[in-house]
Amino acid sequence: MTVILATNDDGIHADGLRALADAIRPLGEVTVIAPDREQSATSHSLTLHRPLRIRKVAEGILSVDGTPTDCVLLGVHGFSKQPPTLVVSGINHGPNMGNDVLYSGTVAAASEGAFLGIPSIAFSLATWEPADFAPAGQVAAALVRLLLTRGLRPGTCLNVNIPPLPFAEIRGVRVARLGKRVFRDVIVEKTDPRGKSYYWIGGENPTWEPDEASDFHAVSNGYVAVTPLSFELTDYKAIVELETMGLTIHDS
Ligand code: MN
Repeated sequence: MTVILATNDDGIHADGLRALADAIRPLGEVTVIAPDREQSATSHSLTLHRPLRIRKVAEGILSVDGTPTDCVLLGVHGFSKQPPTLVVSGINHGPNMGNDVLYSGTVAAASEGAFLGIPSIAFSLATWEPADFAPAGQVAAALVRLLLTRGLRPGTCLNVNIPPLPFAEIRGVRVARLGKRVFRDVIVEKTDPRGKSYYWIGGENPTWEPDEASDFHAVSNGYVAVTPLSFELTDYKAIVELETMGLTIHDS
């Protein structure tokens, strides 16, 4: 039996999660287990210093007062009838491309599934404007159906970004690499009603380095971008450089 665990970082009531769950329900037994509130940009955080509470929202739909990563751990270890065949996360309201995958709770949930040996897919709709998630749901269902048929290696983690277009206008799928964001983050300083300073991380909308093979390029040209992610973080070039440097803590 195909068992699919669905989660997100926008919270259990988000339109994107409902669109995803509804779209993939014909493909297997779907359990939704998601944060009880918005958890965007929580990345891979785990709740370790307080208990977690789970609330049944409806049959097969559970909310957790924790992070997306907590949800995947709970879903895989006990709150799913059998180990899931697939973990899906999203559909996030907003893109998760390039370096942003490191901040994303949506992508973190999928990577947690991958760490646990389960093929996982993160879906994001590439707009911050109010959006209809139905076309992105159709895209997600089409990809999930195809990938379940073809089979995914254990530990595969796919990051999927979908352009905000009607389904018929989406031009197709491109396998793409992560683009490089041009950071324009700024810290905005303001004064509160009691005269104390506070700070807000803000900045202009992101721009990207030109790169025709990137996720950003695919999405801005009307394609769904599929980026396989790996979590080999060691910098092997730097290993050689540091070894050559002869690091020591004792005077020679
Ligand atoms: Mn989000």
